[in-house]
Amino acid sequence: MRYEEKRPVRRRRFTRRQILRNRIIFGAVCLLLAAVLILGLRHLLAGGGEPDPLAQTGQEEAQPTSTPKPYPVDMEDWRMILVNAQNPVPEGYTVETQVADSYTGKELQTEAAGQYAAMKEAAQAEGIELLLCSAYRSVEYQTGLFEAEQAEWLAQGMTEEEAYNKAATVVAIPGYSEHNTGLAADIVTPEYQDLSEGFEDTPAFAWLSQHAAEYGFILRYPEGMQNVTGIIYEPWHYRYVGAENAKYILESGLCLEQFWDLMTE
Ligand SMILES: [Zn+2]
Repeated sequence: MRYEEKRPVRRRRFTRRQILRNRIIFGAVCLLLAAVLILGLRHLLAGGGEPDPLAQTGQEEAQPTSTPKPYPVDMEDWRMILVNAQNPVPEGYTVETQVADSYTGKELQTEAAGQYAAMKEAAQAEGIELLLCSAYRSVEYQTGLFEAEQAEWLAQGMTEEEAYNKAATVVAIPGYSEHNTGLAADIVTPEYQDLSEGFEDTPAFAWLSQHAAEYGFILRYPEGMQNVTGIIYEPWHYRYVGAENAKYILESGLCLEQFWDLMTE
């Protein structure tokens, strides 16, 4: 009897525990469902359930550190090298050259020479004669030019330093001339061979303004840019940067220094 009496009591206690356990499980399942619902809703609101490729590539996180560049120009491209009074030809710079103008025998960097020759031919087909009067100058040749200039001022009674500074206003300091790169071309025309502003009134200049960029050449020292380039307006001095790059530089309306500032700021 006692045994039988105890059983229902035990069974009742066991049932209460079961109920308690069931309640806990029910509660936990409810919480889990709620969590799943909330996450699902958030996902739906954020992207309509479609996988978000941007979130997965982490592009959103990369944005603040890399501002998008206005032009798709690779500033590491060797043809984009910047050489001026502040930026000498890099140490160890080597260049392979070839004759670009068979008439004057002047040489340019191999790729630039090929493009110059193509440009000269295209101009010729439209009755325009281009003459490459100065192109690649080795640093040694530039040194000779500079020392000759300096010697003239020394002979006139200047000190070594005065003569150096005076010479630097006339001839680029060796290693600081764009002509040392093999990418600079002084272009004139048989009827006008002076390196002076008057060249801008020639049909050759008009043709170059229209077509030089198609062959990868840009006007390097434009009018009104002396305070930026450090060089007077030179309608005859062109710089090879490659046709793709020339297109964007032309589009920007900037000189090479300004383009560098814009792309590397
Ligand atoms: Zn020049």
